[in-house]
Amino acid sequence: MSVGGRGPGVRSDFFVQLYPTLRCNLACGFCFNRGLPPLPDVDPAAFARMLDNLAAAGVATLDLLGGEPTLHPRLGELIAALAARGMRTTLSTNGRGDLALLERLEERFGRGTLRVGVSVNEGEAPADGREARADRAAAAVAGADALASALVKVHVFAPAWEAVVDAMVYAVRSRTQYVNASALFQEIVASNADPERLKGLGPQEQGHPTDRHPPLAHRLEALSVDRERLAAASLVTSPTSPAIALVEDAETIEQGLSAAEQRLIAETS
Ligand code: SF4
Repeated sequence: MSVGGRGPGVRSDFFVQLYPTLRCNLACGFCFNRGLPPLPDVDPAAFARMLDNLAAAGVATLDLLGGEPTLHPRLGELIAALAARGMRTTLSTNGRGDLALLERLEERFGRGTLRVGVSVNEGEAPADGREARADRAAAAVAGADALASALVKVHVFAPAWEAVVDAMVYAVRSRTQYVNASALFQEIVASNADPERLKGLGPQEQGHPTDRHPPLAHRLEALSVDRERLAAASLVTSPTSPAIALVEDAETIEQGLSAAEQRLIAETS
């Protein structure tokens, strides 16, 4: 689950991504599920408790992803729990699940509660595919070097978040908490930014469970960036113009997210 939330005064358009089930009726070659251990379907009672925590943190929107969400045998109960709290969800199906069920749920709860999206990810990243076109558009705006180094950083440094979560769990158990957990993430990344980290990025590498894009090697190849320049840029952890500067009042948002995540840790650990 990816958590987004807010503290007082923060905008309410942050959301949480949740995987009600990791089971799926497809077997896409790039699927992140292949690297995850089998996990049980989300229990509706635990889901309702989590919604209460998220509502208290000011989060009003969830993305329900998968696996294929319609394979969750109690999906209707999950949507009903959202509706009961006046929360909204966008549910992503692979289009091969129980679409009639989704139609019934949409009709019952209304599109103000449930919106359905169909995922059309591509496994082999063809040169004219949707993902490649999106990368080319991003490169046209920010430059191929900036995009390529951002992709590498996500793949290389995403695992550092596990250390941050461990630290937050320890802090919560010690009856304290991090004000801004992302600052800790940045510290960990900065102290681990050495060329050794760039070794072993294979063509099937998937850096983060929510990253469903084609393999990194395909995307870098399509961007045609100079490898040495890319390696150097990928190890810069405090750029002069960081992307976070584009987010208004980022520190307050980070603090709200940190507080929400630690509330959930306290609730579930
Ligand atoms: S990428 Fe999505 S549709 Fe494909 S196997 Fe994984 S969860 Fe199923």
